[in-house]
Amino acid sequence: MGLSFNALAQDPIQVKYANTITVSDLTEYLTYLASDEMRGRDTGSEELNIAGRYLADFYKNNGLTAPVNGSYFQNVPLVSVSFDAVDLKIGKTKLIQNEDFVFSGDGDMSKSMKTDLVFLGLVNDENLAKVAVKGKLVGIWAVGVRSNELIAKVMDAGAAGVVMVTMEGQANFDRVANRYKTLAGKGRIGFEKETNQRPTFMVSSDKMAELFGQPVESLKEAAKINPESITSQKVAFQIEKSSKPIETFNVMGYLEGTDLKEEVIVISSHYDHVGVSSTGEIFNGADDDGSGTVSVMEIAQAFALAAKDGHRPRRSILFLNVTGEEKGLLGSQHYGENPIFPMENTVNNINIDMVGRIDYEYQDAENKDYVYVIGSEMLSTQLKKINEYNNITYTDLILDYRYDAEDDPNRFYYRSDHYNFAKYDVPVIFFFNGVHDDYHQVTDTVDKIEFPLMQKRAKLIFHTTWDLANRNNRTPVDGTNTRTDR
Ligand SMILES: [Zn+2]
Repeated sequence: MGLSFNALAQDPIQVKYANTITVSDLTEYLTYLASDEMRGRDTGSEELNIAGRYLADFYKNNGLTAPVNGSYFQNVPLVSVSFDAVDLKIGKTKLIQNEDFVFSGDGDMSKSMKTDLVFLGLVNDENLAKVAVKGKLVGIWAVGVRSNELIAKVMDAGAAGVVMVTMEGQANFDRVANRYKTLAGKGRIGFEKETNQRPTFMVSSDKMAELFGQPVESLKEAAKINPESITSQKVAFQIEKSSKPIETFNVMGYLEGTDLKEEVIVISSHYDHVGVSSTGEIFNGADDDGSGTVSVMEIAQAFALAAKDGHRPRRSILFLNVTGEEKGLLGSQHYGENPIFPMENTVNNINIDMVGRIDYEYQDAENKDYVYVIGSEMLSTQLKKINEYNNITYTDLILDYRYDAEDDPNRFYYRSDHYNFAKYDVPVIFFFNGVHDDYHQVTDTVDKIEFPLMQKRAKLIFHTTWDLANRNNRTPVDGTNTRTDR
């Protein structure tokens, strides 16, 4: 009988606890979290809070401790902002919100402001020297460019607000307007900040031309060369804003380490999703990110069982389920700004966001046992090697690094919660299964989850974490968050 290298290298204690990560447990938890009853786990919904309490109960029942002054919850102070009335009248015409224009800025005014609408066109110093924008509503042409800095530049020059074109073609604008219409009344979720008077009205290229009484082509030309030739218009506008706090929280369970317990590894997922559509269809979010959330649960349980039997990790492990990811990584941003354990002692973050499915790339592959590993060598080359070693030893998955390519347009490294650790120089790994037809659709349901593959991916994360938690030295930082710097 021959002994394989792998069999020799495997640690039977690790294998024993990895085997507590089971398809039946994963199925049970995900069937609940992705059920219709959870109504898509929208940030600010009662259902998300029910899901959060379910996670906390799970940590408690498994003997993990509550690290937030004795609580499993970290409140995240978000508000839901709505713009209750936005009026825009140009000349004698009252424009209709989400049809003629979309309000994409901020502002809160007690009374209507009357001024002129002037045309600036392209935002550059030459045009700003030709057109007096101070105190005016300013028409800008921002097609195919990032508009944020341009708006800031015009506002800094003293404008009262901006009317902008960001895309040509009425149909393109109508799609955007429609999206705003379906979201109307839902409110924008974010952190409370002082109101920035930054009224920004988006219009179609056709509408902009109509407002200034010009054909589109000549307005486009004037935008470049002589915006001062375009006659200004009388305008009145008003914005009424209200914001109300919502109740939402990050959930965490903590396993204290032994001799290196001051150092913490964070295993994370987001437990929120996008809720219910305007027509009442539920976005179950089984893969996104129910899959990561139940993986965190099973990995937590495996470590807790091992600790109970005397195999406590040397470093501490924080199991973290964040809220508000779908609203812009808000829960992890709040954790990063208000960490429960100091960031300088946070040695790694392993983030799991979508690990239950097979994407377009692998759906016809002979071997579908893969996972995308993202960012593992950005800050620490050693971290990638450790993960690879554990994969060879225990799980034998295809580790696909394609999204680490410098020219990859998806920029996934910057797009999920791990980035709110990476930006504090914490080496991270993001585990991901890629995009599929059901991504952010009402069809992201539990019946489509590949549980045995998800189990395998969770086991890899367990072994890698075990290694990171028990080795003598934390992974050294030898890189930066910019790919070209290496
Ligand atoms: Zn996600």
